[in-house]
Amino acid sequence: MGADGSRWCRRLLPDRAGNDRPVEAARSRGNHARFQEELTLLTVFSPEHKLHDAKTELSGGELVAPYECPARAEYVLKQIRQVGLGDVVTPEVFGLDPILRVHDPRYVEFLRDFWPQWRAAGNRGEGLPSVMPTRGMRQRVPQNINGKIGYYAMAAETAITAGTWSAVQTSANVALTAQAMVGTEKTSAFALCRPPGHHATGDQYGGYCFINNVAVCAQAFLDQGAERVAVLDVDFHHGNGTQSIFYERSDVMFQSIHGDPQYAFPYFLGFADEMGAGAGEGFNHNYPLAPGAAFDVWGAALLEACQKIEAYGPDVLAVSLGVDTFEGDPISFFRLTSDDFKRYGAILAGLKLPTLFVMEGGYAVREIGVNTVNVLTGFVSS
Ligand SMILES: [Zn+2]
Repeated sequence: MGADGSRWCRRLLPDRAGNDRPVEAARSRGNHARFQEELTLLTVFSPEHKLHDAKTELSGGELVAPYECPARAEYVLKQIRQVGLGDVVTPEVFGLDPILRVHDPRYVEFLRDFWPQWRAAGNRGEGLPSVMPTRGMRQRVPQNINGKIGYYAMAAETAITAGTWSAVQTSANVALTAQAMVGTEKTSAFALCRPPGHHATGDQYGGYCFINNVAVCAQAFLDQGAERVAVLDVDFHHGNGTQSIFYERSDVMFQSIHGDPQYAFPYFLGFADEMGAGAGEGFNHNYPLAPGAAFDVWGAALLEACQKIEAYGPDVLAVSLGVDTFEGDPISFFRLTSDDFKRYGAILAGLKLPTLFVMEGGYAVREIGVNTVNVLTGFVSS
């Protein structure tokens, strides 16, 4: 699939009988009740995200309660139900194959086997690295688990626990279930993933991320016949993992709007001059913004990114949806209001693309539900 007549022809949507029909006709169809039906968005969610419930995060020289916590997903789910966004379904099981399309098998093996090895080595706390292969060191995987965790870490704040691997697998299944809906039944869907994924590279975890859910889904779209996928990362932090996975490829365009890495995590990637390399040159665009950026600045970057998406002509859009751009976020420095999230949801709808939303960050826990669902209601209402 993928050529003319495939389900990825972006001007067409399947109707209930399986026939294709133009997007514009679907949106303007007269029957009010039918129109109301289309104002919903399917969510995929699993309570198994709670299996990843670390007690520690290394922050400011202290071990603190993690900002990335189970309550985040529960607040989003609560708000989805409160506004009646649409059906909430549980994920199917996809196994490791789609994950291994973008991640190193030895890295996946490390995540799977980490906890018993960590404990067997006599470690009593949660899994945190203390040494990494930095400048001047050899890039080899050690046998010792305390060395191995450093090799596979891109940052040191994120703890691995007994339940992490189960939650990480479930999070990937949540993403892939929503991806399959976008590919087959629905035009758009929301994957309420936790843990998030966009900082995870092909073989590194960190920044609360382990498996790069949006990258796994982008690859799945391609494997199922899409020719071009646009990934738009609107999380406050640069999507370094997604960028690195697709940096030398033209079949995935990656764009990220984020806090300038001179001042914000992940500090060492996400600058404007990173444009892609080799076959991927010109298919990577970063929009690093200064501290204090409000919607006038942020929205202008979004419009520029949307123009590039339109010029690229993708079959599908995958959005790394982090809402830590919120003015009240405890670990970020943008100034978006709750209403702004609705506004940019509407802008994304203007692209008229089948869209997969994948949950990333957002640490103002009590507002995360309102802000996330505002993007989605802004999207479906437009
Ligand atoms: Zn973030």
